[in-house]
Amino acid sequence: MNAADDKTIVKDYFNSTGFDRWRRIYCGGEVNKVQLDIRNGHQQTVETVLNWLQDDNLAGMSICDAGCGVGSLSIPLAQAGARVYASDISEKMVGEAQDRAVAELANTDNLTFTVQDLEHLSGKYHTVICLDVLIHYPQDQAAEMISHLCSLAESRLLLSFAPKTPALSLLKKIGSFFPGPSKATRAYLHKEADVVKILNSQGLTIQRQAMTRTRFYFSRILEAVRT
Ligand code: SAM
Repeated sequence: MNAADDKTIVKDYFNSTGFDRWRRIYCGGEVNKVQLDIRNGHQQTVETVLNWLQDDNLAGMSICDAGCGVGSLSIPLAQAGARVYASDISEKMVGEAQDRAVAELANTDNLTFTVQDLEHLSGKYHTVICLDVLIHYPQDQAAEMISHLCSLAESRLLLSFAPKTPALSLLKKIGSFFPGPSKATRAYLHKEADVVKILNSQGLTIQRQAMTRTRFYFSRILEAVRT
C-alpha cells in the first residue's frame, strides 16, 4: 500500500467509526475493560508531558500539537497560557476538540485549531508535540514525518510512539495489542534506536524520556532538544 492510501484510510477511520470509539476512550463515557485500560494509559502519557512542560514558563510559549485528537493535551496547555496551534487530519476530531475547548476554557483566544495532516504543517514553534500518532506511520514513512516535525521546532520536539520490542512485537502478532478500535487501521511499532537516530540527524538530542505501560497501552515518550 502506498503512503497516500495509508493516510486516506487513517483519515476516513478517524472521521467515522474511529472517531466514535476514540472520543469515548478519550472523553469519558461508557467503555469496556480494554478501552478503560487504554484511557488510563493515555491519560498517564498526557500527564507526563504536562509535568515536563510545566517545568518551564508556559505563558506565551508557542506550541504545535500535531495530530491533536480531541484536544487532550492542547486544552490544558492553552489553559496554562501557552499559544497552542492544534491540528489533526480528521475534521471530526478537530470539531470535538473545538467543542471541548469552548466548554472547558474561559477564553480560547490562544488556541487555534486546523484540519491538516502533519506533513503540510508550516511555521516555527518553540515546542512541537506529536503524541501517539506514529502508530499510523510505517517505518519507511516515519523518517520523513519526524524530520518535518523537527524542522518546525525551534527548541524541542516531544514525540511518543509504541516501541518495537520483542515482547510488543509478539503481542501484536497474537492480536492482543491494540485490540478493538485500532484493528481497523494498521498499527506500526517503531524501534527507539531508529527514532533517536532520525532526531539526532536533525540536530536534536534526547533530554528526557519516559514509558507508559498498562496492560494494553504502551507509549515511549521522548523529549528532544536543540543544542
Ligand atoms: N495526539 C492525540 C492524543 O494523544 O490525545 C491523539 C492521538 S490518536 C491515537 C491519533 C490521532 O492522530 C488521531 O486524531 C488521528 O486523526 C491523527 N492522525 C493520524 N495521522 C495523521 C496525520 N498524517 N496528520 C495529522 N493527524 C493524524
